[in-house]
Amino acid sequence: MRTVDVVIAGAGPAGSATAALLAAAGVRVLLTDRSPFPRPKPCAEYLSPEAGRILDRLGVLDAVSQDAARLTGMRIVSPGGIAFVGRFRPLGDATPFRPWGLALPRERLDGILANAAAARGADFRPGTALESFAAGPTGVVVQLRAGATREAVHAAILVGADGLRSRIARALGVARGADRHRTAFVTHAESVSGMGDVGEMHVFAGGYVGLADVGGGITNIAAVVDRARMPAGSGTRQRLEALLDRVPAVRGRLAGARFVSPVRAVGPFARSTTRATADAVALVGDAADFYDPFTGEGIFAALRGAELLAPHVCRALEHGTLRAADLAPYDRDRRRAFAGKWWLERAIGAVVARPALLDHVAERLARRPAVADLLVGATGDFVPARRVFRPSVVWRMVA
Ligand SMILES: Cc1cc2nc3c(=O)[nH]c(=O)nc-3n(C[C@H](O)[C@H](O)[C@H](O)COP(=O)(O)OP(=O)(O)OC[C@H]3O[C@@H](n4cnc5c(N)ncnc54)[C@H](O)[C@@H]3O)c2cc1C
Repeated sequence: MRTVDVVIAGAGPAGSATAALLAAAGVRVLLTDRSPFPRPKPCAEYLSPEAGRILDRLGVLDAVSQDAARLTGMRIVSPGGIAFVGRFRPLGDATPFRPWGLALPRERLDGILANAAAARGADFRPGTALESFAAGPTGVVVQLRAGATREAVHAAILVGADGLRSRIARALGVARGADRHRTAFVTHAESVSGMGDVGEMHVFAGGYVGLADVGGGITNIAAVVDRARMPAGSGTRQRLEALLDRVPAVRGRLAGARFVSPVRAVGPFARSTTRATADAVALVGDAADFYDPFTGEGIFAALRGAELLAPHVCRALEHGTLRAADLAPYDRDRRRAFAGKWWLERAIGAVVARPALLDHVAERLARRPAVADLLVGATGDFVPARRVFRPSVVWRMVA
């Protein structure tokens, strides 16, 4: 049986970044993805300013920036049509890596990251799915399948970076289901009118439509809807069109537009895990926790999660300490890094789900751009989320 130090299942941003960091540290890494690469991924395709800082540390920022759009902030439009804009700018000692986020198709971003992992020495195998695994305190045996070929691989550690519906998280019994069932419909279009240098979120009762320039004259269109508000119809295109009809301001800008990729659906989402570690296994990225697409920080969390995980894996390999208890400090680091964002995401989700409340808050933030900048800076990952919860800030959002 082939033996490696680490098998990573899933070559999205979480898996590829983990693979790149481990391979650069001399770890023998097998990085697999069930899909052939490059592969599309339903996503609004916007990276927060702080994601850029991590891409820079990974040595891929120049490649990612080439042809990517720069978004200098976010424009939120409430169900009642009240708009406010928050910009990425320095706020006291909180300074964005750059005063813009990047947006580009996931085929390109994920391809660059997987190639970077391979260039650092990871054995990258697209088109190879993890089927099952047996893990214990001394290591793990992973069953892989590529077409009709099956292979068993022994590793010290398995990293589950297999995304939203992580097979590994479910097999470990740590996956918590969605509390709200929502579905997203995503496509790309050319010739959308009125696109500027900010990402846009247009909220309607039970959902929202996001628009983002992703470079090359292409706009990413992503609509998210609660199951209870799902439009009738069978096709993904038909359903997306029906959702766009719910936002006349967006519909009007699509008069001369043409969809240039299939409409892809994904959901339900908003799941989490009770913990991200088990004997000889660790989860990272969406496999560990999923962020609401509204706040657009899943890719940052995937990249940051990789940075948090890699040193724990290196230490475990060095000392042969592979038990869940040995890997548990990674859980602690995740809580420290992400707890504020989890709370912020929930608070934003609660406001967005209440049209009258969002209208009220949007009206305040339209008049108080500094507070809007603070909120958008927190979702952009460079302002500590706790600053948004200060009573003086909350007061200025509602009073
Ligand atoms: C509608 C929508 C819009 C979003 N918009 C944004 C946004 O604008 N900005 C942002 O930062 N985040 C956004 N997100 C979240 C973002 O897409 C995820 O957080 C991010 O992709 C997580 O990366 P990951 O590497 O953990 O998982 P993924 O990118 O999902 O990668 C997981 C990989 O695992 C592979 N895989 C699955 N099962 C197996 C298996 N058994 N064996 C081997 N491989 C397997 C899959 O093929 C996939 O390539 C959005 C999400 C949705 C649903």
